[in-house]
Amino acid sequence: MKKPKILIIVLFQNLLNKEPYYARNPAPPLPGILLAGLTPPTVDVEVLHEMVRPINYDTDADYIAISFMDYISPHAYEVAAKFRAMGKTVIGGGKFASIFPDEVQPYFDSILIGEAQEIWAQMVNDMLSGNLKERYESGLAPSLDNIPPPRYDLVESKFFSPIVTEASRGCPHPCTYCQLNIKRSPYRTRPVEDVVNDLKNTKGLPWYKKKMAMILDNNLGGDLNNAKNLLRKITKLKFWGIGVQYSIECLRDEEFIDLLSEANCRMSFIGMESLNEESLKDVKKRQNKVDEYKNAFNKLHKRGILTFTGLMFALDEDTKEYYETLPQRLDEVGTCVILPSISIPIYGTPFYDKVVSEGRLLDNDISHYGGDHVLFKHNRLSDQDIYKAYKRVNRVFYSWKNIIKRWIKFISKQSIQESIPQFVLKIAVTTVIYFKLSIFQRHHAQKRVFNSSATAMPDRKLKRVDELVKKAI
Ligand code: SF4
Repeated sequence: MKKPKILIIVLFQNLLNKEPYYARNPAPPLPGILLAGLTPPTVDVEVLHEMVRPINYDTDADYIAISFMDYISPHAYEVAAKFRAMGKTVIGGGKFASIFPDEVQPYFDSILIGEAQEIWAQMVNDMLSGNLKERYESGLAPSLDNIPPPRYDLVESKFFSPIVTEASRGCPHPCTYCQLNIKRSPYRTRPVEDVVNDLKNTKGLPWYKKKMAMILDNNLGGDLNNAKNLLRKITKLKFWGIGVQYSIECLRDEEFIDLLSEANCRMSFIGMESLNEESLKDVKKRQNKVDEYKNAFNKLHKRGILTFTGLMFALDEDTKEYYETLPQRLDEVGTCVILPSISIPIYGTPFYDKVVSEGRLLDNDISHYGGDHVLFKHNRLSDQDIYKAYKRVNRVFYSWKNIIKRWIKFISKQSIQESIPQFVLKIAVTTVIYFKLSIFQRHHAQKRVFNSSATAMPDRKLKRVDELVKKAI
């Protein structure tokens, strides 16, 4: 007998573009394949990442589970409405649904609030027996032990590197703009053996897709001893390259850097965010010290580890003078790739509360909350000043000339510490990652950044979500 089927959709559409814009990420996000791994074998499961393929409304799935972030919520409500109109049972989940369940609830048959690992199987069983409740809620910080491996076999072949996992959840830092600080939960780590087990659970993947992995923690370095133990184990797996994310103060620990190198870490994502010390203090990002950046990045580069760093615009202490010198200062600190964005007062964060209490919030349209819009009145800068600086930095940093220049600079720092084949492999892997990331960011700038402007923005009004849903049906 045919099993019932559930389609898990991870949404990633930008509502502002006439043509849907699908991000060309090298690796999939974790939630969809993690949920698939937790799904009982009594149902078939398919995972669809909207970043790489459009939603198939002709699906033979009986049930639809939709994972989405805040700025995608209007799109999520449309998609849910279409499926519900077709008689499908639709479940919503993700960070936004977990933090604002009352807003999200009306658009779904059921919502999952919090983390899925202890409640998803029950939800699926209730759904199959026709007893689905409106809400399922996990505790604030459920155990991370014994989470089954993500289903890498369900990842679309378009993703360059399907192996992604996590070693921890949460972060010990109080950055005021971070969604982890809407509802704080303690920093928790998974058993190291479970993480290693995920990384080895690659049956069915082509051999060349088993060679790279991403540890997608918000901050792998929240417990450095645990991170070091994990890196020692990962070293034995002999990946060609891994990518990790952690906060910058971890780089004060030489042993951590050495272990990253031994585990063949080839890319580190770091929340640099600003070269303006006053703005960093203002958002309570005190672990970042601007005068340490250059040295810290250099230590990674010399070991063949690329730096990919966040860079926020429109932080409250930013000035025109700061933006004037920013391209040159980025060149000096020497980061390999940047992820620029205009700061977002994410609903519910301390930063959002501050902007609202000071009467500075200008734009309530949640579909603009993706990082390419000025959403609030800045104390020192006009919207035009911010867009101008944002575009200029994107343009200068991602010119072909500068992309090539940074690559040559990185390569010239490499010295042979290993066998010749290993050295060649290191150069090849870092080159591929560097160009993939740089071209992705350049593409993003061309599609989303250069077209953005204060005057081109739609009405600064709350989006009429109900109208969107009616239209969808
Ligand atoms: S260091 Fe990063 S993950 Fe941690 S609170 Fe700050 S922004 Fe969030």
